Amino acid sequence: MPDQELVVLDQVNKRFGDHHVLRDVNLSVLRGEVVVIIGPSGAGKSTLCRAINRLETIDSGTISVDGVPLPAEGRALAQLRAEVGMVFQSFNLFSHKTVLENVVLGQVHVLKKRRDAAERRARELLDRVGIGAQAAKFPAQLSGGQQQRVAIARALAMDPKVMLFDEPTSALDPEMVNEVLDVMTSLARDGMTMIVVTHEMGFARRAADRVVFMADGEIVEQNGPDDFFGTPRTDRARSFLAKIL
Ligand code: ADP
Ligand code: MG
Repeated sequence: MPDQELVVLDQVNKRFGDHHVLRDVNLSVLRGEVVVIIGPSGAGKSTLCRAINRLETIDSGTISVDGVPLPAEGRALAQLRAEVGMVFQSFNLFSHKTVLENVVLGQVHVLKKRRDAAERRARELLDRVGIGAQAAKFPAQLSGGQQQRVAIARALAMDPKVMLFDEPTSALDPEMVNEVLDVMTSLARDGMTMIVVTHEMGFARRAADRVVFMADGEIVEQNGPDDFFGTPRTDRARSFLAKIL
């Protein structure tokens, strides 16, 4: 059903100079669906995520979120950025603000919420990601895994329709990867629509409704995780999996 489609990319192309980074990409993500994007470095995964959040322009094709084509600028763009939460490899927290403030600010400035309501919501979300006790600290006083959980809480505070994660655990020490993946798994279980770029194949098997394999700017293959990992259909997917599994 078309109204179940939350994020739709139609024939999206992007070039950086001569480099054709996204080639006729078609992808539709259903409400509540968890799509995990995997593929070698340089495949265009980050560019795809950035395009959905309009951090990157596209050369042709269309991207729409909840039936609305991506706006070019202005208020509509700020609204889009609120609707599409994004969590990056680097945590991008405001280093001179407390953890609580990091989660409050967008609510007050973008959603125009009252400060007391924003704080209440921030504390709720910090509890949800397991760092309620750290609210008064500054980001540098937290571990990487804790900072990334603050970044997730900050994105959730905008009540996004979809969450994009671009290699959220790649910069973390190994012992902190699971605490972040656990938060993401719990979001997925709660019905959040998610697009996740990751090399964590355990997470993909566990949480993905669909795995999308990208290489050289194209979606080469996509399938449910059991079928994708069990019986990849293309040589490119097989050889990628052979290298990482
Ligand atoms: P992935 O996330 O799959 O590793 P990216 O989307 O980051 O891939 O990059 C895809 C290709 O686009 C790479 O070859 C990268 O070097 C190139 N690229 C990405 N961003 C830029 C940019 N701002 N300017 C020029 N080339 C870029
Ligand atoms: Mg990338």
